[in-house]
Formats: sequence, structure tokens, C-alpha cells
Amino acid sequence: MLRLTALCKRRGFIFPSSEIYGGLAGFWDYGPLGVELKNNLKRYWWQTMVYQRDDIVGLDASIIMNPQVWQASGHLEAFTDPLVECKVCHQRFRADQKMLQECHQKEHSEKVTWTEPKAFNLMTEVFLGVTEPKQKAYLRGEITQGVFVNFNNVISSTRVKIPFGIAQIGKAFRNEITPGNFTFRSREFEQMELEYFLEPDSQKAKNTFDYWKKERLAWYLSLGLKKEKLRFRKHEKNEKAHYAREAEDLEYYSPFGWKELEGIHDRGDWDLSRHKLTYKDEQGKEYTPFVIEASGGVDRALLFFLIDAYTETKKRVILKLHPYLAPVKIAVFPLLANKAALVTLAKKIYQDLKNKYVCAWDDRGNIGKRYYAQDEIGTPWCLTVDFQSLEDKTVTVRDRDTTRQERVKISQLKNYFEKKLII
Ligand code: ATP
Repeated sequence: MLRLTALCKRRGFIFPSSEIYGGLAGFWDYGPLGVELKNNLKRYWWQTMVYQRDDIVGLDASIIMNPQVWQASGHLEAFTDPLVECKVCHQRFRADQKMLQECHQKEHSEKVTWTEPKAFNLMTEVFLGVTEPKQKAYLRGEITQGVFVNFNNVISSTRVKIPFGIAQIGKAFRNEITPGNFTFRSREFEQMELEYFLEPDSQKAKNTFDYWKKERLAWYLSLGLKKEKLRFRKHEKNEKAHYAREAEDLEYYSPFGWKELEGIHDRGDWDLSRHKLTYKDEQGKEYTPFVIEASGGVDRALLFFLIDAYTETKKRVILKLHPYLAPVKIAVFPLLANKAALVTLAKKIYQDLKNKYVCAWDDRGNIGKRYYAQDEIGTPWCLTVDFQSLEDKTVTVRDRDTTRQERVKISQLKNYFEKKLII
């Protein structure tokens, strides 16, 4: 983890937020490469969850909503984590994170005793308006409620009919008791979520739950996450969120243990009934639909993709990211920076490919060093223009993972990369 976080900082994936002022616990900034990786991840999610489906539409709701939304959804009352305090130094921890408490014990010579767990609300308050007292509102603790409060709007403005889904990607905020493990537990993070509405029928709910479990697992596998590092874990009765009839976490085996990557929840009719929203089918039958949710964290997925991709060999560090996710797709090099003919041809190829792909240009140092620098950020292909290129209009394309090189006709390059980038 230490080497990965150092790489993220050094190469511009992830920086601590407001670092020049000492940072702020639980907040992170994405650098030039990080933002590309994050955008690629979100784009693929949107593509598969919205564009490739006839039964799902997209939405982008506001972050701050009328506080009554949170009253109705139960979040003001029940969106809590159990908090305990060390009676020696008054530091606070989540009662269910025993490992952190055990580590904390080591900081004291005497035996630590803890306060009884109390429910700590995770919602972040904000104050709006110009007159005192200002209106209290909340940064959303989950993006989900924006979907439910727009349920009627989506139905009346589109042609969706049950069963159908609403997909959304956006920021959520939680006043986490112990942010940590790099971006894994942040106070500001992004979620990518599907709410899938169906008839209030337990068997249909179970089938839909199982269906989305399979789909979501397949989605992560299609982007190259290692199968043996993924598993589903069913929530214990006392662990379920206040809205959940059924819940399973898709977990990833990280350097800090099996950790939740995405939650699949059967929310039943909890939310729609709390908002007093119903659905009328074509026969005029009115009911409160059930909802199956697939709720993933963009930042957690990004972190786990980085962890999964990070590979060290004796000679080099490679980020074996799926080409679709890689921030830079192709790096273009002239073999020698001081040979005008090589540079001119390489620049032309670079400009041409840049219209379609995120490309990097490098003419510094020797080719080995340039490969090293690209491997470390996960660039799948490096393309070199050499003297042979001037004669036969071919270039070498070197593969990041195998280091194998092949000669490809310049006129065929776009075709070549297009084929390689199909998932
Ligand atoms: P945890 O048990 O780790 O606190 P959760 O069960 O509260 O997570 P959900 O409410 O199910 O999480 O949120 C859905 C997804 O949002 C999670 O699977 C995770 O990927 C992401 N997520 C939740 N909390 C955070 C956070 N503090 N930082 C980053 N991502 C988060």
C-alpha cells in the first residue's frame, strides 16, 4: 500500500486534499492521471448500465435537497455508526472496527477502557440562506434518495414501465468516524448506483437480487479484476442498513483485508412508501414497487483496480490496468530526439492518434527509461518511430504486459488500437 500510495502521489493519480495546508482527513484530490482513470471507470459504468440497456435511464440529482427528504428516508434517525471513545485519551472509533481499537491499545501502556457504543449520525450539515438563523440542510449521505424523489418525474417524462431502473453517478458525503486506508473510507466520495424497480413480489425481488449480483460481478471481471480476490458476503441481521430487507456486499481482498466494494440491497418498498410514492400499471392497478439496488463506490473501485493492477518485477513497476481504464492509451516516441525526420513523423502520428485516444509524447532519455515511465502509469502500448519507419512506413508497437514488440503499418494504427480496445 505504501508503495502504491507513493506512486499515486508521484505520478499524479491521487493527492491529499488541500495538502499545502496540512490536508484534511478523509478528503482527496485526483490528479491528471487519476481524473482520466476515474472518468474511464464512470464512462464504462454508464455505457453498460444505461446505454446498453432498454430498461434503465439515467439521472443526475442535486447534492443538497429539502431536508424533509432525509427525515422521510429515515437517515436523520438511523444513518448512524456505533461510536466508542477511549476513556484514556478520548479518541473516538467505530465500535465495529475492532482492529483499529486493538491498534489503539498499543499506543497506551495502561489497559484501555471504552465508553458504551452510541449511535453517531453520519449526515453532514450545511447552512443555507442569508437570514439568521440560516436554513439547515444536509449534503446527501447517499445518492439514492435523489432517484426516489424523482420517481414520478422520470415516469411521466419517459416511457419506462416496471420493471425498470434509474442509474446515477455522483458525490456523497459521510462524516465518517475513522476515515482511512487511503481513499477507501473518505468523507467525500462518489457512488455509482442503480435503483431497479419491480412489482412488490418477494420471489421477483429475490430473482432480481440474484440477477444483479451476477451482473455486477461480471462487470468487475470484464475490467480485469482478479476473480479470486472477489467474493459476496451476506449481511448479518444486525448489520443491515435501516432500509434493507436483504443485503450482500461484493468484497475485494485488499492489503487491509476483505472489504466492501459494492453493496447489493433489497430495499423492498421502504423508500417509496416513506415518500408516499406509488406506481399505476397499464391496467390501473396501483402499488408501491420494490427496489433492488446495486450501489458501488467509484473511489473504492478505483483504489481496488489500482491495487489489483500494481505489479513489481525485479526490473520494473507495472500498473496492469485494463486498457479501457488506463489513463493514457498510447505513448509515442521518436527513437532519437535530435533526428528531425524521426521527430516530424512521430509528431504527425501522435497528433493523428490524439484525435481519438489519450496519448503521451516522450522524447527524453533512452527508450528503456521511457518504457519504464509508461509501465508505471499503466500505458498499454508504446509506439516508436525509428529509421525503418522512414523507409517502410511501419512503427514498433510494444505491449506493456508482455513487452513483446510488433511492427504495424502507420496506415493501420487506428484499426489496430480499435480492435485492441474492444472489451
Ligand atoms: P461501509 O460498511 O464500508 O461503511 P456502507 O455499507 O455504509 O460501507 P453503502 O451505504 O452500501 O456503504 O454505500 C455503497 C457504496 O458506497 C459502498 O459499497 C462503497 O463502495 C461506497 N462507500 C460508502 N462509504 C464510503 C466511504 N466512506 N468512502 C468511500 N466509499 C464509500
